[in-house]
Amino acid sequence: MPVIDTQNAFQNCAKLSFCYLCGKEFTPSEKPTRDHVPPRSIFATKDRLDAFILPVHDKCNGDESVGDEMLAQLIAVLHGKHPKERHNKWKFGATKLPGSKHSSGIAYNGCDLKPRVWRCIKGFHAALYNEYLETNGHANVHLPFPEAQWEGNEVKYLPILEQQYIIAEELRKSRIAKTNDRVSCYQGKCVYECIWVKSDAGIWFCMFGLRLYDWENLGDIHNFPKRGCVGIYHSIEGRPTLGTAGTLIDFSCPTEHPLDPFA
Ligand SMILES: [Zn+2]
Repeated sequence: MPVIDTQNAFQNCAKLSFCYLCGKEFTPSEKPTRDHVPPRSIFATKDRLDAFILPVHDKCNGDESVGDEMLAQLIAVLHGKHPKERHNKWKFGATKLPGSKHSSGIAYNGCDLKPRVWRCIKGFHAALYNEYLETNGHANVHLPFPEAQWEGNEVKYLPILEQQYIIAEELRKSRIAKTNDRVSCYQGKCVYECIWVKSDAGIWFCMFGLRLYDWENLGDIHNFPKRGCVGIYHSIEGRPTLGTAGTLIDFSCPTEHPLDPFA
């Protein structure tokens, strides 16, 4: 049951022998770049202790500025700062649903943020299991906000998937049974938890939840149920040696917020 939540563990992560973005081992002559996972800019200054840093190739690091800025603006709302309209990377910030007196709050327009979150998941996988994550595309991230698309002049909200309820419940149960793998960094303002679950076809999947501050409250929780960030992926390497199988004990775990893995 790997857990990364101490200075010692963070220091070991920073010495990983391979680049979590491409999977290649560093050669003795290479000087890796230090990559903050998630980006340091999203955390308030007082929360920047317990930094989670992984080594990467400079060329793999790439330009993540749009995704970083979106994440930073989003989290800044939780620090009490709101971006100026012309700088706002969020497209549905103040949409009002017909018949509702509440603004729909933040909804997500899909293009830049999921890859940024996915990159963090790859980093957590590499650090927890000392293994590069390759997925064959079998991966899904659900952000903690309603997801929307423009259709003509209307905003159309995408339905919540059954998968989101299942992942959130399995993560809550596994936390109680203490069978989850975990990273807690930036003063506990970033928490990642995951479990490994075998499908009926015998394939191992990782179910994960990610909490940045209390970002489950940023979405529209008046018109939609409150939801956490959850997801699922399949590694082509199968379940890592260190990956913990989720609890098999069948018990119910009632909560007011069934879509929130951290409820
Ligand atoms: Zn690389």
